[in-house]
Amino acid sequence: MAVERTLSIIKPDATERNLTGKINSYIEAAGLRIIAQKRIQLTLNQAEAFYAVHKERSFFGELVDFMISGPVVVQILEGENAIATYREVMGATNPANATDGTIRKDFAIDVQNNSVHGSDAPETAALETAFFFSGIEITG
Ligand code: ADP
Ligand code: MG
Repeated sequence: MAVERTLSIIKPDATERNLTGKINSYIEAAGLRIIAQKRIQLTLNQAEAFYAVHKERSFFGELVDFMISGPVVVQILEGENAIATYREVMGATNPANATDGTIRKDFAIDVQNNSVHGSDAPETAALETAFFFSGIEITG
């Protein structure tokens, strides 16, 4: 297994409920290191650009409206097999299908308000980390 980096977002439904620290504790308990982190308010253009891969999906408009509805915390996580490890810690997209002990099972409200984002592959992890962070902001 290789040391990887992945992009995490704590979404507006979670920042609104003051869950940043609780979610970070799940991340760290899984052996992932939060090597960069900032709390920001996305603009409409930024949210549309970040989720451009989903622009043909029926829920695209609702998704970007949700992502700009409040602050988000964007993070880079580092660790062995970090991309797949974080997807496991997150749980299924729909919390109704998520495994016990995952972030989405324990905190998500519904399939849209599902508390966290995590990159799904090495290529998207590289693009998504560069979308939010410059090299000077990252120290492993
Ligand atoms: P994941 O975040 O698990 O990788 P997707 O990439 O498929 O899931 O979807 C991106 C985000 O879009 C989800 O995390 C969720 O916030 C939202 N979403 C996905 N499916 C739906 C749906 N059927 N209705 C509303 N929002 C959805
Ligand atoms: Mg996805």
